Amino acid sequence: MTKPGGWMESFLIQRATRRQSAFAGVIALLILLTLAVAAPRAGLPWPAITPFMPMCALTVFTTACIAAFLLGAQFTVTRQPMLGALGGAYAFTALAVALQLLMFPGVFSPTGLFGARPTSSVWMWVFWHGGFPLFVILAVLTRDRFSRDAVSTRYVALWAWLLIGGPVVVGALLCGVALMANLPPPLASSTGGAIASNPVAVVLWAINAIAVLAVLASGRLRAVLDVWLAIAALACFTDTSLNLLSSDRFTVGWYVARLFSMLAPGVLVCVLVWEVTALYRRLFEAHVSLRQASMHDALTGLYNRSYFSEQIGVRMGTAKRNGQPLSLIMVDVDHFKRYNDAFGHLKGDACLAAVAAALSGVVRRPGDFIARYGGEEFVIVLPDTGPTDAQALAERAREAVMRLRIEAAAPSRYVTVSAGCATATPGSTAFSTDTLIETADAALYQAKAAGRNLVISAQAMATAVM
Ligand code: GH3
Ligand code: MG
Ligand code: MG
Repeated sequence: MTKPGGWMESFLIQRATRRQSAFAGVIALLILLTLAVAAPRAGLPWPAITPFMPMCALTVFTTACIAAFLLGAQFTVTRQPMLGALGGAYAFTALAVALQLLMFPGVFSPTGLFGARPTSSVWMWVFWHGGFPLFVILAVLTRDRFSRDAVSTRYVALWAWLLIGGPVVVGALLCGVALMANLPPPLASSTGGAIASNPVAVVLWAINAIAVLAVLASGRLRAVLDVWLAIAALACFTDTSLNLLSSDRFTVGWYVARLFSMLAPGVLVCVLVWEVTALYRRLFEAHVSLRQASMHDALTGLYNRSYFSEQIGVRMGTAKRNGQPLSLIMVDVDHFKRYNDAFGHLKGDACLAAVAAALSGVVRRPGDFIARYGGEEFVIVLPDTGPTDAQALAERAREAVMRLRIEAAAPSRYVTVSAGCATATPGSTAFSTDTLIETADAALYQAKAAGRNLVISAQAMATAVM
């Protein structure tokens, strides 16, 4: 959808359908239910599956990268700062999770890469789970502040770098802090005790809760983006809460938290891909209907002149290749100016539509077609049809219009048509579209001159001349 200001409106900013809202509501309930079930059991140990953590981290990294890319692309098209800022939040997540994985003891090296300290990967986890909701809050504020103004086209690339690159730089700096600074362990390791007593845990939990509330308050779940961003924020909140309740590895809280860490970027990727696919389908349908409209005449529903002009050459080529004749009938309503003068243009239009329907009723073979050539003139194209058959069909067309018994202004009682037929025959020198049209037109002119309500065949004319 293009706005008056010239910027495109993203489907993400369009109103969510009831179905989408209901679906998201069910997912939100499931998340809360899982949190309620898992929280009291967060510290329970489960069997250790060592590859689980790297596998989840890799999934988060990949989906967050895709989300950042898709949101960034949406930003460059719509120029809505919020989408760029959200892209930044996911770019930050991607970097943070990748760095946490690299620093994690026992994954790439026994103590973690980059000379990681024992607390580095935990701090990186804290930065990730604090940074993402913080950047979401910032993105939501951006929308409230700049909802009416799109970034100007000239600066969109610069803004994309700033909005997406900014959080990435912050992530890199935080990584430096986690690696270099001699930070104390951020979270108490004793199961269940972390959330209430540790200031880092409290701040982290509060930021996540505020992010959920900010998304809810700012968009009030109206737009597609508000609905699914709320789910992403809720997933991050649940992930953080369960992890804080149990900072030990291989516990119920730890496993479930990992699953939710994948949901936060995954949900946006799914929505973006789903909506892009839906848009693609709508675009395809619009293309088909536009193509249909561009080939047809609005008043009569017949093919239009441009379709005729395009097709006649194609049919001529086929006729030449196959050594077959190609016939053309030009039909013109007699004294139609008088009809308009007598009954008005609206009645004239209705008369033309009725004549068109009567004419197309006689064009039955699959290869044949009829088009409105202009005004009250029609053309019938008949591949693999010789002059005799063409003349017979033109005669049937003339009679079909007579049978309509549309009352006419003088001189005749009913509306009639005249027709001129021409045939391009294989081997003849005049085997070209222009010659065919001119010849049919000349025959039509003869029919008019001979008194109208007549069919004249150019071949018959030629024979008469000889
Ligand atoms: P002739 O028998 O020699 O063909 O006479 P004519 O009056 O039909 O021919 P002329 O070319 O003088 O007039 C054609 C008329 O067709 C004039 C124009 O107002 C009318 N016409 C063309 N297109 C339309 C249309 O879409 N709707 C209506 N109502 N009239 C149209
Ligand atoms: Mg005419
Ligand atoms: Mg006419």
